[in-house]
Amino acid sequence: MMPAPAPSPPVRTALRVALQTLGCRSNKYDTAVIRGELMARGYEVVSTEQPHDVLILNSCTVTHDADRVARQRLRAARRRAPTCTLLLTGCYAELGGDALREAVGADLLVSNQEKPTLVDRLDHFFGFTPLPAPPGPMLPDPGEHTRFFFKIQDGCNVRCAFCIIPDARGSARSLPPEQVVGQVREAVARGFQEVILSGIHLGAYGRDLPGAPGLAGLLRRILTETDLPRLRLGSVEPWGVRPDLLALLREDPRFLPSLHLPLQSGCDRTLRAMKRPMGAQTYRQLIDRVLEACPNLTLWLDVIAGFPGETSQDFDQCVDFVEALPFARLHVFPYSPRRGTPAASLPAPVPPAIIRARVTRLLSLSAERWQQTLQARIGHDAHILVESGGRGHTRDNLPVQLVGTQLETLRGQIVPVALTELVGEQLRGALLV
Ligand code: SF4
Repeated sequence: MMPAPAPSPPVRTALRVALQTLGCRSNKYDTAVIRGELMARGYEVVSTEQPHDVLILNSCTVTHDADRVARQRLRAARRRAPTCTLLLTGCYAELGGDALREAVGADLLVSNQEKPTLVDRLDHFFGFTPLPAPPGPMLPDPGEHTRFFFKIQDGCNVRCAFCIIPDARGSARSLPPEQVVGQVREAVARGFQEVILSGIHLGAYGRDLPGAPGLAGLLRRILTETDLPRLRLGSVEPWGVRPDLLALLREDPRFLPSLHLPLQSGCDRTLRAMKRPMGAQTYRQLIDRVLEACPNLTLWLDVIAGFPGETSQDFDQCVDFVEALPFARLHVFPYSPRRGTPAASLPAPVPPAIIRARVTRLLSLSAERWQQTLQARIGHDAHILVESGGRGHTRDNLPVQLVGTQLETLRGQIVPVALTELVGEQLRGALLV
């Protein structure tokens, strides 16, 4: 009798991997890189709505809520597919170890530092023979994106009192300029028209590298050494906006006029308690200099409501300060204590109901300003980069929905539009021919 054939070894293509991302742009970028590497190695990447054998959850830990959401996602995935392999990575995974892995029911835990070897670890888990690493750094798979979100910096050395990021992501590290320029060139060759540079503390870019090339120096190199039509910055801590960056904003129209500059509070007492390196008046002066360099720039801010010890006078002062700033929209965060941060043990916590009321007040200020910003564009023309479904963004990052047919054929192109009306929180644009 012939011996029974040995069971065939598992193959990567038989494994369907879904990815989910929580949190910031840095995480989105990391997920895109992981997705690209999974595909390059032969894994089948599917959406979370499709049946899958592996779920990779790229988590955030900026608040307790973020941790809770990560646990919920893993529990829900386990309920849906009891045999699915669950891999937790990202900032929440960073804080854990085996105890966390067991507590959240994950099969594998991969820290932020270990992300570059995440696919190796998956290979090892399933007993696949490791494949040689692809030459050079991997360009992330664009996935659904038309704009290339490119993380060039990770980690932070600042240690604001509320923030766990320096522990979760380590000290500031930057990708060397040659590598950044090379990847941007490759992105352009693949048809990307816009690159959005991101980082945890983008303004600290290059300080850890030989010769300490700064952010502006890097941008200048990208703009002179590549044909990229649109270059945008993600969130930059305000003290990272130096005169050389403003000069570039003034000089080169390919450096797009939108900035996201976290403020966190407009009250100096609260800013000091938060251990932010910049006070309110210095922030205001910076905004004046930014708008002097680029009067049409659109500005986004982050504000935290209900930091411990924030009195109602402090909050009123914050609202008055914010109201006087020429911003387009606020990102409002209700303060929630993060274990391991100095703020978590501060006295005088603000009651949750008061935090909610402060958030509501800031959100209504933001909604009103957003409507005014968008309304002011009606009747004007703009150039938008068309994304999926005919959506797009103007040069100053305002969302536009194109009207018309066969919009998918325009995807990836920069087109002129007439901004005709405002529907909800989006401008409508008609193609100009
Ligand atoms: S600058 Fe402050 S808020 Fe930003 S990542 Fe560093 S510690 Fe966190």
